[in-house]
Amino acid sequence: MGYLSPLLAARNMKETIEFYTKSLGFKMGMAFPDANNPEYVDLAKDGMVLMFIPAKDHGISREEKLGIGVYLYLQIDGDIDEYYQELKKKGVKIAVDIKDEPYGVRDFTVEDIDGYKLAFNQVTAKNCLSCGMPMTKLEDFGGGNSANIYCVNCANPNGSLKSYEEVSEGMANFMMKIQNMDKETAEKAAKEYMAKMPAWERK
Ligand SMILES: [Zn+2]
Repeated sequence: MGYLSPLLAARNMKETIEFYTKSLGFKMGMAFPDANNPEYVDLAKDGMVLMFIPAKDHGISREEKLGIGVYLYLQIDGDIDEYYQELKKKGVKIAVDIKDEPYGVRDFTVEDIDGYKLAFNQVTAKNCLSCGMPMTKLEDFGGGNSANIYCVNCANPNGSLKSYEEVSEGMANFMMKIQNMDKETAEKAAKEYMAKMPAWERK
């Protein structure tokens, strides 16, 4: 797997460091040549690293506005609501308030001092323990019960898990249709996929 490292130009390195560490709770990593007069600094949260360089040293004039069109989507480790409250308490300006997205993510957006937008988020969707499908709406859950650990495709109308044969057959049919597989390949792929799912791993 590759690794993406965003490098952002900052108007004022010291203010940037202060904003990210004091207001957003980032940890300071490497500063070059030193933290008092940095020409480079990296700031990290939950293993996500943002690198900063001074805008003036890189041909970006005062008139140019930074941050336009740049959205960074940061999936944090801790509880998104707790982090949101913590930032509000520190007086951080929230650009877009916290909300649940239709694709199973809860997020809010902050603008840093140069206008870079940081969308902090957390995946909230539950995944079916039989097929892995994200369940976000009530009708996605087996038996229409949001406490069910199985989705509507893997559960009987009363919410109980269908048999291994029923689920693997349904999954194979789905793969044949979506991925254009022949029956034999799809059946094999469905069984291989299911072997990794919590509901079937001992099958
Ligand atoms: Zn399922």
